[in-house]
Amino acid sequence: KGSHGKYTVTLIPGDGIGPEISESIKAIYSAVDVPIEWEEVSVTPVLKGGKTVIPDAAINSVRKNTVALKGPLATPIGKGHVSLNLTLRRTFNLFANVRPCISIKGFKTPYDDVNTVLIRENTEGEYSGIEHEIVDGVVQSIKLITYDASERVARYAFDYAQASGRKRVTAVHKANIMKMSDGMFLSACRHVSKDYPDISYDEDLLDRVCLQIVQNPEPYSNRVMVMPNLYGDILSDMCAGLIGGLGLTPSGNIGREASIFEAVHGSAPDIAGKGLANPTALLLSSLMMLRHMNLNEHAAKIGKATLDTIAEGKTITGDLGGRATTKEYTAAIIAKLTGA
Ligand code: NAD
Repeated sequence: KGSHGKYTVTLIPGDGIGPEISESIKAIYSAVDVPIEWEEVSVTPVLKGGKTVIPDAAINSVRKNTVALKGPLATPIGKGHVSLNLTLRRTFNLFANVRPCISIKGFKTPYDDVNTVLIRENTEGEYSGIEHEIVDGVVQSIKLITYDASERVARYAFDYAQASGRKRVTAVHKANIMKMSDGMFLSACRHVSKDYPDISYDEDLLDRVCLQIVQNPEPYSNRVMVMPNLYGDILSDMCAGLIGGLGLTPSGNIGREASIFEAVHGSAPDIAGKGLANPTALLLSSLMMLRHMNLNEHAAKIGKATLDTIAEGKTITGDLGGRATTKEYTAAIIAKLTGA
């Protein structure tokens, strides 16, 4: 918190629709005087020593402020380009990816009672990037699991459950097949669970969870599910589908040095620059950020105005079946907040 009583937060508007949806968040925050000052930085890669890297100014800003809100980044396809998202995750060791999947009242989906939080190990597993061709036509890709990283994400999951009043943590795995790697992930979870006597702990197979949650999400309510990297990637997108898609799903990447909150969706090049994008996912991500910073009242107030606006259904964006522009939707939320 700075001398002017505001917290400085790094804002990475990102590519495509990123700048439009970031504007919406800024407008809503300034309308209700959220004590946050945005430090806007670009992460457009620059050449350094023959390699494309994220500009130092962006890295330094996140390091200094320890909290950032990030719009989507277009990942260039082709050789020699690193994924900027992966780079940010590695640079700040953002070890836990948190994806709440909670039904939005008033937005009709096959189920209206989805209420689960997925926590994905974010630094290793199948995403370790250790791959090599042994001989022609034979490639080996290594799934790396360490006890330390498993224990760290498990502890975060239990802490999250405790802080958010969720009563159960479920470790999602394939230890029946990946006996050693997922087996170690589970033993770390079991070990950590002993420190949280008030929270029940169980384990479930990934394939079983996928089948069951699409048939009936209710039993998964009020839980936190924790899992290795790839499983979390896939399961969390599936759960996003259950609550109405990518335009509504927030996420947080948590680390010890810094945390970066971002929408789950990409840069939506098909609608970029047209003023049609839905800012809800980034807005809800920013509310996770406010809660992370203990600015709970602001988060609750803005969250309610947002969900009420969606539930009314009068001023919603095209992806939700409405006709409002990004600006009109933003103005409707602000009107609710300020009573204007
Ligand atoms: P996308 O999420 O950008 O778009 C998929 C579809 O969803 C599109 O039809 C798009 O118009 C729609 N959509 C997404 N967000 C929306 C929103 N807020 N409001 C309304 N509609 C929305 O996925 P893509 O097309 O596969 O990817 C585009 C680019 O984004 C790629 O370069 C990809 O690498 C990148 N990407 C970045 C991130 C990230 O930064 N975290 C995540 C995913 C994809």
